[in-house]
Amino acid sequence: MQFIDLKTQQQAIKPELDRRIAAVLAHGQYIMGPEVAELEQVLASFVGVKHCITVASGTEALLIALMALGIGLGDEVITSPFTFAASVEVIALLGARPVFVDVEPHTGNIDARLIAERINDRTRAIMPISLYGQLADMEAINALAADHGRIPVIEDGAQSFGALRHGRRSCGMSTVGCTSFFPSKPLGCYGDGGALFTDDDQLAQAAREIRVHGQSKRYLHTRIGVGGRMDTLQCAIVLAKWPRFAWELEQRHALGARYTQQLAELAHAAVVNSDEVGHPLGGLRSLALAPGNRSVYAQYTVLTPRRDHVREELNHAGIPTAVHYPIPLNEQPAYRQFGAEAETPVAHWLAEHVMSLPMSPDLSQDEQQRVVEHLSEALAMVTA
Ligand SMILES: *Cc1c(COP(=O)(O)O)cnc(C)c1O
Repeated sequence: MQFIDLKTQQQAIKPELDRRIAAVLAHGQYIMGPEVAELEQVLASFVGVKHCITVASGTEALLIALMALGIGLGDEVITSPFTFAASVEVIALLGARPVFVDVEPHTGNIDARLIAERINDRTRAIMPISLYGQLADMEAINALAADHGRIPVIEDGAQSFGALRHGRRSCGMSTVGCTSFFPSKPLGCYGDGGALFTDDDQLAQAAREIRVHGQSKRYLHTRIGVGGRMDTLQCAIVLAKWPRFAWELEQRHALGARYTQQLAELAHAAVVNSDEVGHPLGGLRSLALAPGNRSVYAQYTVLTPRRDHVREELNHAGIPTAVHYPIPLNEQPAYRQFGAEAETPVAHWLAEHVMSLPMSPDLSQDEQQRVVEHLSEALAMVTA
């Protein structure tokens, strides 16, 4: 069994892949070819925003979003420490300071109630991460940002493309939304790729210029930029996957719901209460789906007692698992300078207990059944 099965998908879309790749080879416009604009139109309309700007990766999308907002030396960006390093490295690279706010124990997303006390006159952006495929409390975050003089909100939607919150799409609920087409993300290409989404014309124009070395036209560099384009072939790969994506989202939703239901039958409770943080876990828990959310389950993640032992048992049984993330960023050597571990006890606690199970649209019900059975056995073994 694979942690993420991309082979079945490839077989299913092979004719369309071949057709799309052949078209690029035939026209030969490997950089900024027609597939780039085609993909941008398709994705902007799906997300429900005016502008989509494809870029070289999810990391580049975040970097360009911060640059387009003019964020730099001495500025502060509020974000979560419980994420992939890319979310935070781009802030630090620009000379700005990541300000770490703790996460919710039941979702792992930034705790909107803790943001206000960290806002000051250096705050230039709030960057919630849509962890594992589910959006944070965007309504509360947007309201806070509006109340404090329209602070821009940047959604790191690298794991959540296609997710919904109260009927609105990930990447379309904030000043700017960023996603990644890394192969294992919910919508992936066959290399690196990413995109920014915004309704703001000026921000879109800035992002378009920054991705081509700050050029407003050829050899006129009006701002400092980067080499940040997504290549035509990678855009063609995403276009080849696009007709199947709606079905894949349905599959993700159904598989996620099935895991939740079956695991709840194994465990004593399905939801983590905040007062349990810091105490030993009594049993296995799925992370919760917050009200109004439709997750894309980039990862299906549970909290388990004796996590490393359970993983070992599952590994013996041929069930691959992963840990996203074993160490919060404010406890990492490179980022400790920006915040103390003690400020984010929930992130620390989650990092000790999270475990992600095999998940992809092509995971079969039989495979899922095997995961649940082996997990049940592993739990019985390590807690005996
Ligand atoms: C994957 C990921 C990124 C970076 O995307 P790349 O395309 O790999 O650069 C950023 N943030 C989060 C939360 C991610 O999961």
